[in-house]
Amino acid sequence: MEITAGNTVLSLVKGDITLEQTDAIVNAANSRLAGGGGVDGAIHRAGGPTITEECGKIGGCPTGSAVITSGGNLKARYIIHAVGPVYHNGKRGEDRLLSGAYHTSLELAVNHKLKSIAFPAISTGIYGYPIDQAAEVALTTVLDFVKTNKGLSLVRFVLFSDSDLKVYENTLKRLTTEK
Ligand code: ADP
Repeated sequence: MEITAGNTVLSLVKGDITLEQTDAIVNAANSRLAGGGGVDGAIHRAGGPTITEECGKIGGCPTGSAVITSGGNLKARYIIHAVGPVYHNGKRGEDRLLSGAYHTSLELAVNHKLKSIAFPAISTGIYGYPIDQAAEVALTTVLDFVKTNKGLSLVRFVLFSDSDLKVYENTLKRLTTEK
């Protein structure tokens, strides 16, 4: 599914984010930038050791924020390592922190004059964030951002399963017809 919001195409696809050819791909990192399982492990494996070295030099990133490294061996030129929250009960500021991870990633992309960025569903794997709530936060944050920031021509969400893609599609339809 694809829609246009402001100057930006928002695209929802199913796939493996390590294969994306956008200027940047976003990693669902942990606050130590230590690498791990899930999409983080896949990105570090595909990107090669320079990424792990760059992350080690940066040293860490607070939850709700993001940092940028080169793309190593990936097709994407940059990796934005975004740190989403671990989901507890929804009452520990999880939505604000998740939104912050997306927002900082978008700002980093614009500050580096990038035109396209691809996101995974941050926090919805090992970190346990319910996919429907996470989709709402992710899509609302991006829709708000592209209203006032004209620099990005493509924001893509790369979902790892048909059911996650369906949730994103339904959420995007609802958010864009409500307006
Ligand atoms: P977190 O710790 O932030 O929850 P995970 O990596 O466990 O991060 O999961 C985040 C999301 O990334 C999940 O929806 C998971 O299915 C998805 N995912 C895992 N591998 C990939 C991949 N190669 N490309 C895109 N998404 C992926």
